[in-house]
Amino acid sequence: MTSTNTTCDSRVDLLSLTKEELKALLLSVGEPAYRAQQLFTQLHRGLLPEQMTNIGKITRQKLAAIAYWHLPGIERKLVSEIDGTVKYLFSLADGNCVESVVMTYEHGHTICISSQVGCRMGCRFCASTIGGRVRDLSAGELLGQIIAAQADFGARIDNVVMMGIGEPLDNFDNVIKFLRLVNEEGGLNIGYRHISLSTCGIVDKIDALSALDLPITLSISLHAPDDQTRSAIMPVNNKWGVDALLGACRRYYERTQRRISFEYTLISGKNDTAEQAEKLARVLNSRLRGKERAGAMPIHVNLIPVNEVSETGFVRSGESAVRAFAKVLESRGIRATVRRKLGPDINASCGQLRRTAMREGGENLGTPSPAPT
Ligand code: SAH
Repeated sequence: MTSTNTTCDSRVDLLSLTKEELKALLLSVGEPAYRAQQLFTQLHRGLLPEQMTNIGKITRQKLAAIAYWHLPGIERKLVSEIDGTVKYLFSLADGNCVESVVMTYEHGHTICISSQVGCRMGCRFCASTIGGRVRDLSAGELLGQIIAAQADFGARIDNVVMMGIGEPLDNFDNVIKFLRLVNEEGGLNIGYRHISLSTCGIVDKIDALSALDLPITLSISLHAPDDQTRSAIMPVNNKWGVDALLGACRRYYERTQRRISFEYTLISGKNDTAEQAEKLARVLNSRLRGKERAGAMPIHVNLIPVNEVSETGFVRSGESAVRAFAKVLESRGIRATVRRKLGPDINASCGQLRRTAMREGGENLGTPSPAPT
């Protein structure tokens, strides 16, 4: 599979290459193919080509003429004094910026990475989509966020969630290539089971992902139990409604047997009433667990009181509304947890740091591409 070159550099991006592709590249500059394994490992450890002593200077020069190597640079870094969460604003080779967040849980360190510069999905509550999508990230840029964060953070990153800026399934080929690279021997060695991908619900791509049968965890940003409520806050719902989306979820589970989690951000007065919780339980149970369906599919709902973004005007639900919502779901056999807010002092939810930096005029916004129709 080839990945799209997403920067203005016409040379090939070394970090985006599989071992097989590196082999072909090395052969083309007169180096033996067996060096591909060493080069792959060194690149994924974050070594600069000049630090690779086993590759001769002339070969490096030949490589530099046809390939480039760039790790995201740390443009800004915020560390939470409350829980140690670290938020990075990374600059890419062309000056665009994205965010990544490293969080520490009992089961290790988790990084939340971005998949695009900006986003064209238009979810009304989300800061990442306000300026539209500028471009997709390459597989190497997806990987580069982990390599650069790991080098700075000084500890192994165990888990990856694709929940940062952008819609991963709107950058399908590069994301799939990234998943294979991150899992490849001699690289970062993060297993598929330690990776979650979150989507706003691009149904044809969920089906394409099912067909690949990768044992990653899928998260669905559902946020509403019916089309009227969901279309008002998520334009993607105009193309694929709740019923179509849950159909794709059922097929995903039947194919992969992997549990799916649902994200539900609670917005005061929009989607947070007890009736809406009842409706949510009803639709999840009937579409995913109906008698003829694939057994008792485990369903988990993450409730997230909305992070208030000044441009959106949405207000987070109060504690009692959140508790009441969770209680209704639990009483209908659906596990619900209220997401602990990490890094509350550093605005750790994605998209906000990039927007602040852009408002201050320091970073490159680029020209957004049109939203899907
Ligand atoms: N595009 C993907 C992944 C990025 S967003 C998706 O939609 O899933 C990651 C998660 O954060 C999604 O569930 C998204 O709906 C949620 N989110 C975005 N803005 C938010 C906000 N202001 N408050 C709470 N959750 C938000």
